[in-house]
Amino acid sequence: MIIAVPAETRPGEKRVALAPESVQRLAEKKLQIRLQSGAGKGAWFSDDDYRRAGASVETSVEGLFDQADLIAKIRAPSEAEIEHFRRGAALICLLYPRIHAAATRYLASRGVTTIALENLPRTTIAQAMDVLSSQSTVAGYRAVIVAAAGVAKFFPMLMTPAGTIAPARVLVLGAGVAGLQAIATARRLGAVVEAFDVRRAARADVESLGAKFIEPWLEQAAETAEGYATPLTEAAIERARDAIRQPLANGDVCVTTALVPNQRAPILITAEMVKTMRPGSVIVDLAAEQGGNCELTQAGQDSVCHGVTIIGRLNLVSEVAIDASRMYSRNLEKLIFHFLDDDKLRFDFGDEITRRCVVTHGGEIVGAEIREAIAAATGG
Ligand code: NAD
Repeated sequence: MIIAVPAETRPGEKRVALAPESVQRLAEKKLQIRLQSGAGKGAWFSDDDYRRAGASVETSVEGLFDQADLIAKIRAPSEAEIEHFRRGAALICLLYPRIHAAATRYLASRGVTTIALENLPRTTIAQAMDVLSSQSTVAGYRAVIVAAAGVAKFFPMLMTPAGTIAPARVLVLGAGVAGLQAIATARRLGAVVEAFDVRRAARADVESLGAKFIEPWLEQAAETAEGYATPLTEAAIERARDAIRQPLANGDVCVTTALVPNQRAPILITAEMVKTMRPGSVIVDLAAEQGGNCELTQAGQDSVCHGVTIIGRLNLVSEVAIDASRMYSRNLEKLIFHFLDDDKLRFDFGDEITRRCVVTHGGEIVGAEIREAIAAATGG
Protein backbone atom coordinates (compact mmCIF):
# COMPACT_ATOMS: atom_id res chain seq x y z
CA MET A 1 0.00 0.00 0.00
CA ILE A 2 1.22 3.50 -0.86
CA ILE A 3 0.63 6.44 1.49
CA ALA A 4 1.10 10.00 0.20
CA VAL A 5 1.96 12.84 2.59
CA PRO A 6 1.42 16.24 0.94
CA ALA A 7 2.64 19.55 2.35
CA GLU A 8 -0.13 21.42 4.16
CA THR A 9 -1.26 24.47 2.20
CA ARG A 10 -3.27 26.49 4.74
CA PRO A 11 -1.37 29.66 5.72
CA GLY A 12 0.27 29.28 9.14
CA GLU A 13 -0.13 25.48 9.22
CA LYS A 14 3.29 24.08 10.12
CA ARG A 15 2.37 20.54 11.10
CA VAL A 16 2.83 17.48 8.92
CA ALA A 17 0.55 14.43 9.07
CA LEU A 18 3.31 11.81 9.41
CA ALA A 19 6.56 12.38 11.30
CA PRO A 20 9.73 10.48 10.29
CA GLU A 21 9.53 8.12 13.29
CA SER A 22 6.04 7.00 12.22
CA VAL A 23 7.22 6.62 8.62
CA GLN A 24 9.90 4.25 9.87
CA ARG A 25 7.38 2.10 11.76
CA LEU A 26 4.99 2.03 8.79
CA ALA A 27 7.85 1.20 6.40
CA GLU A 28 8.85 -1.71 8.66
CA LYS A 29 5.32 -3.08 8.06
CA LYS A 30 5.99 -2.92 4.28
CA LEU A 31 3.91 0.23 3.67
CA GLN A 32 5.41 2.64 1.12
CA ILE A 33 5.44 6.31 2.05
CA ARG A 34 5.74 9.09 -0.52
CA LEU A 35 6.39 12.52 0.88
CA GLN A 36 6.01 15.80 -0.96
CA SER A 37 9.42 17.45 -0.81
CA GLY A 38 9.46 20.01 2.02
CA ALA A 39 6.25 18.72 3.67
CA GLY A 40 8.03 18.38 7.03
CA LYS A 41 9.84 21.72 6.86
CA GLY A 42 7.47 23.63 9.17
CA ALA A 43 8.02 20.98 11.86
CA TRP A 44 11.80 20.95 11.29
CA PHE A 45 11.81 17.48 9.65
CA SER A 46 14.01 17.51 6.54
CA ASP A 47 13.53 15.48 3.36
CA ASP A 48 16.65 13.54 4.41
CA ASP A 49 15.06 12.65 7.77
CA TYR A 50 12.21 11.08 5.79
CA ARG A 51 14.54 9.33 3.33
CA ARG A 52 16.45 7.80 6.25
CA ALA A 53 13.13 6.63 7.71
CA GLY A 54 12.35 4.82 4.45
CA ALA A 55 10.14 7.28 2.53
CA SER A 56 10.61 8.37 -1.06
CA VAL A 57 10.58 12.13 -1.55
CA GLU A 58 8.56 13.39 -4.52
CA THR A 59 8.93 16.72 -6.25
CA SER A 60 6.03 16.28 -8.71
CA VAL A 61 2.32 16.09 -7.87
CA GLU A 62 1.99 13.12 -10.22
CA GLY A 63 4.73 11.22 -8.41
CA LEU A 64 3.08 11.94 -5.10
CA PHE A 65 -0.55 11.08 -5.85
CA ASP A 66 -0.73 8.89 -8.99
CA GLN A 67 -0.54 5.54 -7.24
CA ALA A 68 -1.39 6.59 -3.70
CA ASP A 69 -3.92 4.36 -1.93
CA LEU A 70 -4.10 6.67 1.06
CA ILE A 71 -3.46 10.40 1.47
CA ALA A 72 -2.54 11.52 4.99
CA LYS A 73 -3.26 15.18 5.75
CA ILE A 74 -4.06 17.49 8.62
CA ARG A 75 -6.43 20.04 7.07
CA ALA A 76 -9.19 19.38 4.52
CA PRO A 77 -7.79 19.43 0.96
CA SER A 78 -8.62 22.13 -1.56
CA GLU A 79 -10.50 21.21 -4.71
CA ALA A 80 -7.28 21.77 -6.68
CA GLU A 81 -5.57 19.11 -4.54
CA ILE A 82 -8.48 16.67 -4.77
CA GLU A 83 -8.21 16.77 -8.55
CA HIS A 84 -4.95 14.83 -8.28
CA PHE A 85 -6.30 12.08 -5.98
CA ARG A 86 -6.69 8.66 -7.59
CA ARG A 87 -10.28 7.37 -7.89
CA GLY A 88 -10.77 4.83 -5.13
CA ALA A 89 -8.04 6.32 -2.92
CA ALA A 90 -8.69 7.05 0.76
CA LEU A 91 -8.02 10.32 2.60
CA ILE A 92 -7.49 10.83 6.33
CA CYS A 93 -7.73 14.41 7.68
CA LEU A 94 -9.63 16.76 9.95
CA LEU A 95 -12.41 17.32 7.41
CA TYR A 96 -15.23 19.30 9.09
CA PRO A 97 -17.57 18.63 6.14
CA ARG A 98 -20.11 21.31 7.07
CA ILE A 99 -17.39 23.95 6.78
CA HIS A 100 -15.78 22.33 3.71
CA ALA A 101 -19.02 21.37 2.00
CA ALA A 102 -17.88 21.86 -1.62
CA ALA A 103 -14.65 19.90 -1.06
CA THR A 104 -16.61 17.08 0.64
CA ARG A 105 -18.99 16.88 -2.29
CA TYR A 106 -16.07 16.81 -4.69
CA LEU A 107 -14.34 14.05 -2.70
CA ALA A 108 -17.49 11.94 -2.97
CA SER A 109 -17.85 12.56 -6.71
CA ARG A 110 -14.20 11.59 -7.22
CA GLY A 111 -14.82 8.26 -5.49
CA VAL A 112 -12.52 9.03 -2.56
CA THR A 113 -13.16 7.37 0.82
CA THR A 114 -12.75 10.17 3.37
CA ILE A 115 -12.06 9.46 7.01
CA ALA A 116 -12.89 12.54 9.13
CA LEU A 117 -10.75 12.43 12.26
CA GLU A 118 -12.94 14.86 14.20
CA ASN A 119 -15.67 12.21 14.27
CA LEU A 120 -13.68 9.55 16.13
CA PRO A 121 -15.70 8.17 19.03
CA ARG A 122 -14.30 8.99 22.50
CA THR A 123 -14.03 5.26 23.34
CA THR A 124 -11.18 3.37 24.97
CA ILE A 125 -10.25 1.65 21.70
CA ALA A 126 -10.14 4.97 19.80
CA GLN A 127 -8.19 6.84 22.50
CA ALA A 128 -4.81 6.20 20.88
CA MET A 129 -6.15 7.57 17.55
CA ASP A 130 -7.83 10.64 19.05
CA VAL A 131 -6.23 13.62 17.30
CA LEU A 132 -8.70 16.08 18.85
CA SER A 133 -7.36 15.11 22.27
CA SER A 134 -3.70 15.13 21.29
CA GLN A 135 -3.94 18.48 19.54
CA SER A 136 -6.05 19.97 22.39
CA THR A 137 -3.29 18.93 24.76
CA VAL A 138 -0.84 20.93 22.65
CA ALA A 139 -3.21 23.92 22.48
CA GLY A 140 -3.79 23.99 26.25
CA TYR A 141 -0.05 23.87 26.93
CA ARG A 142 0.82 26.52 24.38
CA ALA A 143 -1.95 28.87 25.53
CA VAL A 144 -0.36 29.09 28.96
CA ILE A 145 3.16 29.50 27.58
CA VAL A 146 1.95 32.35 25.36
CA ALA A 147 0.05 33.92 28.27
CA ALA A 148 3.09 33.64 30.56
CA ALA A 149 5.22 35.34 27.91
CA GLY A 150 2.58 38.05 27.36
CA VAL A 151 1.79 39.00 30.95
CA ALA A 152 4.27 41.41 32.52
CA LYS A 153 4.41 39.37 35.74
CA PHE A 154 6.00 36.24 37.19
CA PHE A 155 3.90 33.08 37.33
CA PRO A 156 5.49 31.56 40.49
CA MET A 157 5.64 33.12 43.91
CA LEU A 158 9.15 34.46 44.50
CA MET A 159 10.70 35.30 47.87
CA THR A 160 13.73 37.44 47.19
CA PRO A 161 15.79 40.13 48.97
CA ALA A 162 13.91 42.51 46.69
CA GLY A 163 10.65 41.45 48.26
CA THR A 164 8.05 38.74 47.93
CA ILE A 165 6.22 38.46 44.64
CA ALA A 166 2.73 36.95 44.75
CA PRO A 167 2.03 34.15 42.24
CA ALA A 168 0.02 34.91 39.09
CA ARG A 169 -3.69 34.10 39.25
CA VAL A 170 -4.96 32.11 36.28
CA LEU A 171 -8.59 31.42 35.40
CA VAL A 172 -9.36 28.57 32.97
CA LEU A 173 -12.81 28.43 31.36
CA GLY A 174 -13.76 24.96 30.12
CA ALA A 175 -12.02 21.99 31.70
CA GLY A 176 -11.97 19.48 28.85
CA VAL A 177 -8.72 18.18 27.36
CA ALA A 178 -7.26 21.62 26.48
CA GLY A 179 -8.45 23.23 29.71
CA LEU A 180 -6.97 20.50 31.89
CA GLN A 181 -3.61 20.78 30.13
CA ALA A 182 -3.76 24.58 30.59
CA ILE A 183 -4.42 24.07 34.31
CA ALA A 184 -1.57 21.56 34.63
CA THR A 185 0.86 23.83 32.76
CA ALA A 186 -0.07 26.93 34.77
CA ARG A 187 0.30 24.94 38.00
CA ARG A 188 3.74 23.66 36.90
CA LEU A 189 4.77 27.28 36.39
CA GLY A 190 3.62 28.07 39.92
CA ALA A 191 0.39 29.99 39.32
CA VAL A 192 -2.71 29.85 41.49
CA VAL A 193 -5.42 28.41 39.25
CA GLU A 194 -9.21 28.44 39.27
CA ALA A 195 -11.35 26.73 36.65
CA PHE A 196 -14.94 26.60 35.55
CA ASP A 197 -16.95 24.09 33.52
CA VAL A 198 -20.60 23.23 33.10
CA ARG A 199 -19.95 19.48 33.33
CA ARG A 200 -20.15 18.38 36.93
CA ALA A 201 -17.58 15.60 36.30
CA ALA A 202 -15.00 18.31 35.62
CA ARG A 203 -14.75 19.17 39.34
CA ALA A 204 -12.76 16.03 40.21
CA ASP A 205 -10.40 16.54 37.23
CA VAL A 206 -9.77 20.18 38.13
CA GLU A 207 -9.20 19.47 41.81
CA SER A 208 -6.85 16.57 41.06
CA LEU A 209 -4.56 19.11 39.35
CA GLY A 210 -4.47 21.35 42.42
CA ALA A 211 -6.81 24.02 41.07
CA LYS A 212 -10.00 25.41 42.60
CA PHE A 213 -13.26 24.51 40.86
CA ILE A 214 -15.77 27.31 40.46
CA GLU A 215 -19.28 26.00 41.05
CA PRO A 216 -21.54 27.01 38.14
CA TRP A 217 -24.88 26.80 40.06
CA LEU A 218 -26.84 25.45 37.11
CA GLU A 219 -30.42 24.41 37.70
CA GLN A 220 -30.21 21.59 35.21
CA ALA A 221 -27.34 19.52 33.89
CA ALA A 222 -25.78 20.98 30.73
CA GLU A 223 -24.29 17.77 29.39
CA THR A 224 -25.22 14.85 27.17
CA ALA A 225 -25.15 11.19 28.21
CA GLU A 226 -21.88 10.95 26.21
CA GLY A 227 -20.30 13.59 28.49
CA TYR A 228 -20.34 16.56 26.10
CA ALA A 229 -21.56 20.01 27.12
CA THR A 230 -24.89 21.29 25.78
CA PRO A 231 -25.71 24.96 25.08
CA LEU A 232 -26.77 27.02 28.11
CA THR A 233 -29.99 29.04 28.24
CA GLU A 234 -29.48 32.81 28.33
CA ALA A 235 -30.34 32.78 32.06
CA ALA A 236 -27.79 30.02 32.74
CA ILE A 237 -25.11 31.89 30.74
CA GLU A 238 -25.77 34.93 32.93
CA ARG A 239 -25.31 32.81 36.05
CA ALA A 240 -22.10 31.37 34.59
CA ARG A 241 -20.83 34.92 33.93
CA ASP A 242 -21.72 35.89 37.51
CA ALA A 243 -19.73 32.90 38.81
CA ILE A 244 -16.55 33.94 36.98
CA ARG A 245 -16.88 37.75 37.30
CA GLN A 246 -14.82 38.02 40.51
CA PRO A 247 -11.99 35.56 39.65
CA LEU A 248 -11.69 37.25 36.24
CA ALA A 249 -11.40 40.73 37.77
CA ASN A 250 -8.82 39.48 40.30
CA GLY A 251 -6.83 37.43 37.78
CA ASP A 252 -3.76 38.05 35.64
CA VAL A 253 -4.44 35.46 32.91
CA CYS A 254 -7.56 33.82 31.56
CA VAL A 255 -7.40 30.85 29.17
CA THR A 256 -10.74 30.07 27.57
CA THR A 257 -11.49 26.68 26.01
CA ALA A 258 -15.30 26.35 26.35
CA LEU A 259 -16.86 24.59 23.37
CA VAL A 260 -20.14 22.88 22.60
CA PRO A 261 -19.93 20.44 19.65
CA ASN A 262 -21.33 21.88 16.38
CA GLN A 263 -22.27 25.23 18.00
CA ARG A 264 -20.84 28.71 18.19
CA ALA A 265 -18.64 28.93 21.31
CA PRO A 266 -20.50 30.40 24.31
CA ILE A 267 -19.62 34.03 25.16
CA LEU A 268 -18.55 33.80 28.79
CA ILE A 269 -16.60 37.09 28.91
CA THR A 270 -18.52 40.14 27.71
CA ALA A 271 -16.89 43.42 26.68
CA GLU A 272 -18.11 44.86 29.97
CA MET A 273 -16.31 42.10 31.90
CA VAL A 274 -13.03 42.79 30.04
CA LYS A 275 -13.20 46.38 31.37
CA THR A 276 -13.15 45.02 34.94
CA MET A 277 -9.89 43.11 34.36
CA ARG A 278 -6.52 44.33 35.58
CA PRO A 279 -4.57 46.39 33.02
CA GLY A 280 -1.73 44.24 31.68
CA SER A 281 -3.64 40.98 32.03
CA VAL A 282 -3.98 38.48 29.19
CA ILE A 283 -6.81 36.42 27.72
CA VAL A 284 -5.92 33.51 25.42
CA ASP A 285 -9.09 32.48 23.61
CA LEU A 286 -8.70 28.92 22.33
CA ALA A 287 -12.31 29.03 21.11
CA ALA A 288 -11.48 31.87 18.66
CA GLU A 289 -12.06 29.66 15.59
CA GLN A 290 -15.57 28.82 16.82
CA GLY A 291 -16.48 32.48 17.45
CA GLY A 292 -14.59 32.98 20.73
CA ASN A 293 -15.48 32.78 24.45
CA CYS A 294 -14.72 36.49 24.80
CA GLU A 295 -16.90 39.02 23.03
CA LEU A 296 -13.86 41.11 22.02
CA THR A 297 -11.75 38.27 20.56
CA GLN A 298 -10.73 38.81 16.96
CA ALA A 299 -10.18 35.44 15.29
CA GLY A 300 -6.67 35.16 13.90
CA GLN A 301 -5.41 38.27 15.69
CA ASP A 302 -3.88 39.46 18.93
CA SER A 303 -5.35 42.75 20.14
CA VAL A 304 -5.34 45.02 23.20
CA CYS A 305 -8.69 46.22 24.60
CA HIS A 306 -9.05 48.24 27.81
CA GLY A 307 -5.42 47.36 28.67
CA VAL A 308 -6.07 43.61 28.31
CA THR A 309 -4.20 41.63 25.64
CA ILE A 310 -6.60 39.25 23.89
CA ILE A 311 -4.93 36.47 21.91
CA GLY A 312 -7.17 35.12 19.16
CA ARG A 313 -4.48 33.34 17.12
CA LEU A 314 -5.67 30.31 15.18
CA ASN A 315 -2.27 28.65 14.80
CA LEU A 316 -1.22 28.11 18.42
CA VAL A 317 -0.88 24.36 17.86
CA SER A 318 1.44 25.00 14.91
CA GLU A 319 3.71 26.94 17.27
CA VAL A 320 4.56 23.53 18.78
CA ALA A 321 4.78 21.93 15.32
CA ILE A 322 7.37 19.26 16.19
CA ASP A 323 5.50 17.59 19.03
CA ALA A 324 2.05 18.39 17.64
CA SER A 325 3.06 16.57 14.41
CA ARG A 326 4.55 13.66 16.35
CA MET A 327 1.37 13.21 18.39
CA TYR A 328 -0.91 13.57 15.35
CA SER A 329 1.28 11.13 13.47
CA ARG A 330 1.15 8.55 16.28
CA ASN A 331 -2.65 8.83 16.28
CA LEU A 332 -2.67 8.29 12.50
CA GLU A 333 -0.44 5.23 12.69
CA LYS A 334 -2.94 3.55 15.03
CA LEU A 335 -5.84 4.49 12.79
CA ILE A 336 -4.10 3.21 9.64
CA PHE A 337 -3.46 -0.14 11.33
CA HIS A 338 -7.10 -0.21 12.43
CA PHE A 339 -8.23 -0.06 8.79
CA LEU A 340 -5.42 -2.19 7.38
CA ASP A 341 -6.30 -5.73 6.40
CA ASP A 342 -3.66 -7.70 4.55
CA ASP A 343 -1.99 -4.75 2.78
CA LYS A 344 -5.34 -3.11 1.90
CA LEU A 345 -7.63 -0.68 3.66
CA ARG A 346 -10.91 -2.34 4.56
CA PHE A 347 -14.01 -0.38 5.55
CA ASP A 348 -16.42 -2.45 7.60
CA PHE A 349 -19.47 -0.34 8.46
CA GLY A 350 -20.28 -2.73 11.31
CA ASP A 351 -17.26 -1.21 13.09
CA GLU A 352 -18.04 1.91 15.16
CA ILE A 353 -14.89 3.80 14.13
CA THR A 354 -15.63 3.25 10.43
CA ARG A 355 -19.30 4.12 10.83
CA ARG A 356 -18.56 7.36 12.67
CA CYS A 357 -15.55 8.57 10.65
CA VAL A 358 -16.17 7.65 7.02
CA VAL A 359 -17.91 10.63 5.41
CA THR A 360 -17.54 9.78 1.70
CA HIS A 361 -17.35 6.29 0.23
CA GLY A 362 -18.27 4.55 -3.04
CA GLY A 363 -19.05 7.85 -4.78
CA GLU A 364 -21.54 8.95 -2.08
CA ILE A 365 -21.68 11.09 1.03
CA VAL A 366 -22.38 8.52 3.74
CA GLY A 367 -25.22 9.34 6.16
CA ALA A 368 -28.48 11.13 5.37
CA GLU A 369 -28.02 14.01 7.82
CA ILE A 370 -24.61 15.12 6.53
CA ARG A 371 -25.69 14.44 2.90
CA GLU A 372 -28.61 16.85 3.32
CA ALA A 373 -26.46 19.47 5.09
CA ILE A 374 -23.90 19.35 2.25
CA ALA A 375 -26.63 19.48 -0.41
CA ALA A 376 -28.13 22.56 1.30
CA ALA A 377 -24.73 24.24 1.63
CA THR A 378 -23.71 23.60 -1.98
CA GLY A 379 -27.08 24.34 -3.62
CA GLY A 380 -28.34 20.80 -4.26
P1 NAD B 1 -14.64 20.31 24.06
O1 NAD B 1 -13.39 20.73 23.40
O2 NAD B 1 -15.83 19.97 23.24
O3 NAD B 1 -15.10 21.48 25.09
C1 NAD B 1 -14.18 21.99 26.04
C2 NAD B 1 -14.84 22.14 27.39
O4 NAD B 1 -15.72 23.27 27.41
C3 NAD B 1 -15.66 20.94 27.85
O5 NAD B 1 -15.16 20.46 29.07
C4 NAD B 1 -17.06 21.53 28.01
O6 NAD B 1 -17.80 20.93 29.07
C5 NAD B 1 -16.75 22.98 28.32
N1 NAD B 1 -17.87 23.91 28.14
C6 NAD B 1 -18.82 23.95 27.18
N2 NAD B 1 -19.68 24.98 27.38
C7 NAD B 1 -19.25 25.63 28.47
C8 NAD B 1 -19.69 26.77 29.17
N3 NAD B 1 -20.77 27.47 28.78
N4 NAD B 1 -19.01 27.15 30.26
C9 NAD B 1 -17.90 26.47 30.67
N5 NAD B 1 -17.43 25.39 30.06
C10 NAD B 1 -18.10 24.96 28.97
O7 NAD B 1 -14.36 19.14 25.08
P2 NAD B 1 -13.29 17.97 25.03
O8 NAD B 1 -12.04 18.43 25.61
O9 NAD B 1 -13.24 17.43 23.65
O10 NAD B 1 -13.97 16.92 26.01
C11 NAD B 1 -15.35 16.63 25.88
C12 NAD B 1 -15.72 15.40 26.70
O11 NAD B 1 -15.11 14.24 26.16
C13 NAD B 1 -15.28 15.46 28.13
O12 NAD B 1 -16.27 14.82 28.90
C14 NAD B 1 -14.01 14.66 28.14
O13 NAD B 1 -13.70 14.14 29.42
C15 NAD B 1 -14.39 13.58 27.17
N6 NAD B 1 -13.22 12.93 26.54
C16 NAD B 1 -13.14 11.57 26.59
C17 NAD B 1 -12.08 10.92 25.98
C18 NAD B 1 -11.99 9.41 26.00
O14 NAD B 1 -12.57 8.81 26.86
N7 NAD B 1 -11.33 8.81 25.06
C19 NAD B 1 -11.10 11.65 25.31
C20 NAD B 1 -11.22 13.05 25.27
C21 NAD B 1 -12.31 13.68 25.89
